[in-house]
Amino acid sequence: MTTVTTQKVAANLGTITPEQIGKCTKDFDALTGLNFYRVENERGDRDASGKVVEYMVWYDKKGFHCQCPSGKRGFANVTHPSGVCKHCRWAVAASIEERIALAEMAARDSLLIINGEVASKEEYTRVMTSEKAIDYTAQPRQIPAFSILRK
Ligand SMILES: [Zn+2]
Repeated sequence: MTTVTTQKVAANLGTITPEQIGKCTKDFDALTGLNFYRVENERGDRDASGKVVEYMVWYDKKGFHCQCPSGKRGFANVTHPSGVCKHCRWAVAASIEERIALAEMAARDSLLIINGEVASKEEYTRVMTSEKAIDYTAQPRQIPAFSILRK
């Protein structure tokens, strides 16, 4: 059996809904240093203690792993072009969405609005690296007097 890569899964995600991505929670095992996703089962099945059944999904040198029945059998029953179960596909979709969100947040750190429009890279650089300090004391702001009485 060949190892299924993240790229292969990402290229064969098919249709994944926001609800399916919402079933994925990124997690980290501090003892082993393993990053993984906890993925809720699709039907909402609960275990004997009433907790929603979750499958651990992770990726390592040997490829994808999932604790679901299909994953336990090495995805031998999978006919999907990705070669892995839906939990792995949802986890990959969730990680892609996460990366996009982080990139958008990073881009927002350097967001500048000029006249209601997003400033270009050049405008941003010009404004942020401007050596000409603005002297706010030169022209004191004119604040109109406040009165609750109508004139
Ligand atoms: Zn699975």
